[in-house]
Amino acid sequence: MTDLPHLSLFAMPKPVRITGRSSSITNSFVNGVIPVVVPTESELQEALEILGMREHVTCSYCGDTSTEWDHFRPLVEKQRPTGYISEIHNLVPACGKCNQSKGNKHWLTWMRSTARL
Ligand SMILES: [Zn+2]
Repeated sequence: MTDLPHLSLFAMPKPVRITGRSSSITNSFVNGVIPVVVPTESELQEALEILGMREHVTCSYCGDTSTEWDHFRPLVEKQRPTGYISEIHNLVPACGKCNQSKGNKHWLTWMRSTARL
């Protein structure tokens, strides 16, 4: 148990099931075999501290309430693993809208795109 409310919000992105996606089977397969490393509480706190979110966790992109963790760098690109995995070093707090909008894009590509906000 933790006394920090935002830590209880932490849930690693769900591993993708091969049958659970409408995108290409190759993407799903690659996603399905990419490792997920669950952080310790101190790693989590360190990450939030680096992001300046020790007291108040917000979406890293728009500042709205954070509801989930976004893969800062995509796990899969052009149907190949990028080498980045599901671990705290590749996750930032995000709101659902930003996470959905960003999708699998590189953060800079997305930020410079016509995405709202
Ligand atoms: Zn956001």
